[in-house]
Order: sequence, then structure tokens, then C-alpha cells
Amino acid sequence: MELKIFFLGSGCSAPTKARNLTSIAMQYSGKVFLFDCAEGTQQQMMRANVSYMKLDSIFFSHFHADHFLGLPGLLATMTMYERDMPLNIYGPKSVEKKVALAIEIAGIMPCFKINTFEIKKGFLLRGDNFTISAFPLKHNTSCYGFTFKENDKIAEFVKEKAIALGIPEGPLFAKLQHGEAVKFGSKTIKPEEVLDYSKGRRGRKVSIVLDTRPHESYIENIAASDILIHESVFASIDMDRALDTAHSTALEVAELANKAKCKKLYLTHFSTRYEKLDALLKEAREVFPETHIGKDLLIVNLPLNPKERVVDN
Ligand SMILES: [Zn+2]
Ligand SMILES: [Zn+2]
Repeated sequence: MELKIFFLGSGCSAPTKARNLTSIAMQYSGKVFLFDCAEGTQQQMMRANVSYMKLDSIFFSHFHADHFLGLPGLLATMTMYERDMPLNIYGPKSVEKKVALAIEIAGIMPCFKINTFEIKKGFLLRGDNFTISAFPLKHNTSCYGFTFKENDKIAEFVKEKAIALGIPEGPLFAKLQHGEAVKFGSKTIKPEEVLDYSKGRRGRKVSIVLDTRPHESYIENIAASDILIHESVFASIDMDRALDTAHSTALEVAELANKAKCKKLYLTHFSTRYEKLDALLKEAREVFPETHIGKDLLIVNLPLNPKERVVDN
């Protein structure tokens, strides 16, 4: 199943000629999830070919202007195009009030249902084959990071073995596939008789951390991410500004990615003071070579993890 990440913007605080403000879209299993909805998000979605129609949920890390001001316009467009699918909006405390305010500013009467959910630490959404969860960050207002995790596939079902055991195709197959023992005539068939655990597959994991001081408290949440997307507003030379504004430097984020044993790091949410980002990339790569710039309109396709044993059966 395809997992695509779209960097719709990469700027912090204000847009520049070269950068829109940061929003990130993720497409998986026919659905689109949007993380923050900054000013300019609608046009960037069009440029990146992200479907409005498939937009299932928006997750707000926090309600600073550079993360939120795209919402009134987006809701207005959806109303104009007579969206009928419900839209789920997750955000920290006051999310309901903020969404009501966005509707008031846009001067619209949405023709579709909007469900709002206040974010609490832990699972926010459980799909058929994935979860999205939240964890608190260390910013200067209530702010959350997010983890998308595809379920691990513990083993591959070997149909030939099941047929050889005389099990009829149908519901018993499904039970065995899910690791349950089944009774068939006088026999009990154990799942390990028909499952190949060496062909398990670790589910993909993507963590999105926008607006925080880097902190040990969320290392466990982002641990072993295939992709960590982390704000990196400043370079180390501007450490004092990072401390004053509760943001991160590229070097600090690289150290965190290293500690959390992430596979790839994408830096984003850059200060307007840097026209070029070479210095940020250089300082991060010295510590974590698999660092990349999450620049505007970059699309990342995250392939399936290789087959491997993920349980000790
Ligand atoms: Zn920000
Ligand atoms: Zn902020």
C-alpha cells in the first residue's frame, strides 16, 4: 500500500518568496491526513496534487497563526464545492472554539459535518491497518507531535500448507491468518502450522514534530521512525533565539534523531532569516547523515519495509 508524504510548505512564522508556511499531508489507504493547515495550504495542495475530496482529518499541533490560518479558506472552498463527506479536526484544548471561529471568519454555513476532537496524549485514530497517536511537546503553548504507525504484519499465511492440511478455504483461513487456532473435524490446527513468521513485515512509522524544544520526553514516541519530520527553525548559531522562542536547532534535532534511532530525518519549518539552508543541513548531517531538507512541494514515497521476523514465535 502506498504511503506518500507531501511537504506543502516549509517556512516558520511568515511566508517568504521561496517558502510557504509549513503544512504536511499524508496519503495512505485512499485517505489524506493533513498536519496543520497554514495559510496557503489550499494552493499548495493543488500544486502537489493532493485531493481535497480524500481529506479525512486535519491534525493541529497547536494554534499559532502560522499553523492555523489556512483553515477558514479551506472550509470556505469545501463549502463552495458542496463537500458532503464529514471532516474530522483534531487539536489541543479549544479546538472546538477555534473551528467555530474559522467558520465565523469565513462567513460560511458548512454543508458537511465537522467533527472536532480535543487531543489527549495517546491514540487519536485507529484505522483498519494503522494508528495515529499524539504526544505532548515542549513549546510555549499547548502543542502536540504525531505518530503514524502502520500495523506490523507478524507473518505470511501459507495457503498451500493450509490446503495440504485439508482445511477448506473460507472463514477458517481468516482465523488462522489472524493467529487464531481453529478446530476442523477432530483436529485442532495451530496458526504456526500455516504461518511463515520469517516473512513478517514491520509496519511503517512516520513521526511529525512541529514546534518544540527538543526533549527526552518524546524520544520513546518517535523511536525507530522510518521518517522523522521535525521542526528546525534555527541553525546552532542562533541558539539563543531557539531558546527564547521554544524552537529547535538543526544540530539538536539531528542528535535527537540519532538517539531515537530514526532511519531518515527531514528538517522543516525554517526561520525567514535563512535564505539558504546549507548551514542547517551541514550541521545536522555531521551528526545524522540521513538528514534531508523537507522543502516546499517535496513528495516522499515511503516503500514497505523488508520482510523480516517481527515476533519470536
Ligand atoms: Zn510554528
Ligand atoms: Zn508555534
